[in-house]
Amino acid sequence: MTKNAKYILKIINSSSDHLTAEQIYLCLKERNKAVALATVYNSLSFLHKEGLIKKISIEGCPDRYDNTKRHDHMICKKCGKLSDITLENLTGRLQEQTDIYIISYDLKIIYICDDCLAKEDKA
Ligand SMILES: [Zn+2]
Ligand SMILES: [Zn+2]
Repeated sequence: MTKNAKYILKIINSSSDHLTAEQIYLCLKERNKAVALATVYNSLSFLHKEGLIKKISIEGCPDRYDNTKRHDHMICKKCGKLSDITLENLTGRLQEQTDIYIISYDLKIIYICDDCLAKEDKA
């Protein structure tokens, strides 16, 4: 693994913000580790291929990157806010219902966050 990839992995694992490639790039810059944006993309695709990070794709948004600790996500339909939520591991139950060999699953709960609900109430 390159030094940059290691550094990027550290940033992702120590953040709970689900950073985009661009944010990671800025983060590196702030720490005086100037690398090209293309290098960030290359490192991210390497880390993803190796299964060291998770990629979260949401329609209409840039991809975000996350640690691989088992957890699920909630996404606000209005503002796109992405939050972690830890639910019971459903693999066993899905397995029972599908009769297929499940490797992993990707659960996204779409909801409306408190901020957006409050705004809606005012409108
Ligand atoms: Zn919202
Ligand atoms: Zn997450």
